[in-house]
Amino acid sequence: MNLEIFPEDIRPHIIPKPEGKPFYRCLGCFKEFSIEKLLYVCPDCNQVLMIHDKNKAAISKHSGSTWQKIFDFRKMLKIPALKGIYRYHEFIGSCIPLDSIIYLGEAHTPVIEASCHLKEKTGLNFFYKNDGQNPSASFKDRGMASALSSIKYLIDQKLISDVIAVCASTGDTSAAAALYASYLTPLIKSAVLLPHKKVTPQQLSQPLGSGAQVFEIPGVFDDCMKIVEHLSTQYPVVLLNSKNAWRILGQESYSYEIAQDFDWDMTNKIVVIPIGNAGNISAIMNGFLKFHEAGIINQLPKIIGVQSEHADPVYQYYLEPDENKRQFKPVNTRPSVAQAAMIGNPVSMPRVIQIAKQYNKISGQQNVFFIQVSEQSIMDWQLTANQNGHITCTQGGECLAGLVKASTMGIATKNETAILDATAHAIKFSEFQDLYFKKQLPPAYEVQSDSKYINLPDLILPGNPDLVPSQDKRLTKTDFQHFIQEISGKIADKLNL
Ligand SMILES: *Cc1c(COP(=O)(O)O)cnc(C)c1O
Ligand SMILES: [Zn+2]
Repeated sequence: MNLEIFPEDIRPHIIPKPEGKPFYRCLGCFKEFSIEKLLYVCPDCNQVLMIHDKNKAAISKHSGSTWQKIFDFRKMLKIPALKGIYRYHEFIGSCIPLDSIIYLGEAHTPVIEASCHLKEKTGLNFFYKNDGQNPSASFKDRGMASALSSIKYLIDQKLISDVIAVCASTGDTSAAAALYASYLTPLIKSAVLLPHKKVTPQQLSQPLGSGAQVFEIPGVFDDCMKIVEHLSTQYPVVLLNSKNAWRILGQESYSYEIAQDFDWDMTNKIVVIPIGNAGNISAIMNGFLKFHEAGIINQLPKIIGVQSEHADPVYQYYLEPDENKRQFKPVNTRPSVAQAAMIGNPVSMPRVIQIAKQYNKISGQQNVFFIQVSEQSIMDWQLTANQNGHITCTQGGECLAGLVKASTMGIATKNETAILDATAHAIKFSEFQDLYFKKQLPPAYEVQSDSKYINLPDLILPGNPDLVPSQDKRLTKTDFQHFIQEISGKIADKLNL
């Protein structure tokens, strides 16, 4: 692309330079650490880390409106490294040279407006932002693009070698980790730990297909996480869970895209996010805070975090209105159709607490809300969304259930526009749809199949079951004609044609 076509004031800034100075800061004791070492928690106080940038001038040298122009023009570039999350390079991994960036087609996912019918049915204005349309079919690709680019950067700088990357997962993290690590074969090997029988068949097939070593562990996600943490303290492995602060950094891109998708106008906007390990909601709030500080958006959108009754530790924490009396208690999860968010002891809880507090403070009022929904409403709203043109997973169903509940509580109104995170593609979680349609969801899920939503295939057979086409025995011409007519007639009857 010919750089000469860009306006003169944008031209020198259109290709970002790796001039940022990111560093880790402990969320507990605020101690700072170099990003040149692999680090997941504070060596002093064991608290999780966030990535900040020492080179603040790199952001403040432009006004908010210049940044808007830079990003809008950058959208036209054809440079692969800048096509994904690194369109916002100065805000994401600002020290990484373009040739260390890994781009596999992630980010800039479509924002799809609810149909008139669905808006009428809910009485609300909303869009789904389809993060299921990422390469491994979930938002986790955003964080992995960031984490694996940071590893590639350290490898290219000769700071690390012989990398073995590990993660525990409710399914989607391992799919994304295995995909991005496989792109760096043979520089990186990857291993993933999954709770046995607690991920869907599609999610299990993904890391296997990407060539990762897959270990199934008895128990739930929280148990796998403990093993991975143990491994990362005992052995030289790269941790790809959302403890890894680079994951959070990459996932901030979701907010930057929403800002750009709505032409930088966040007035009366609500962003609805399902909460599991609480990495995503932390990242999304943090992203909006950064853009707000840089003057790129004039206002912080309302944030609604949603949890199922069967896995709701964050919701429980915020039930106590007095901030000083709140106490975090992990919960024992129960089976949830929002299985990717079925986490009782979220790793990023300290991040949520700190960032939500800041978010409310800067907003000048409560602007972060936590909503609890039933398993029944998650399934019913997922099916409703998808029967009206969406492709959302159960966690995206959880978002819609949460938005509807928020409106009954007066937290969301029809004068606002909500953006719902469809965190994964529907097909990853089609197992739950199947079980619902067949009325076979085990009782522990506490979901009754409502005939209004059930949809099952209808096998149409001719009167004479022997006269059917098969691969080894073709029908005679007359029999085949007869078959076509009879079956067509039956279908026409069913369709009331
Ligand atoms: C990981 C995941 C979540 C939960 O996100 P957290 O960052 O763990 O809160 C929700 N939905 C899907 C599809 C996921 O893969
Ligand atoms: Zn510390």
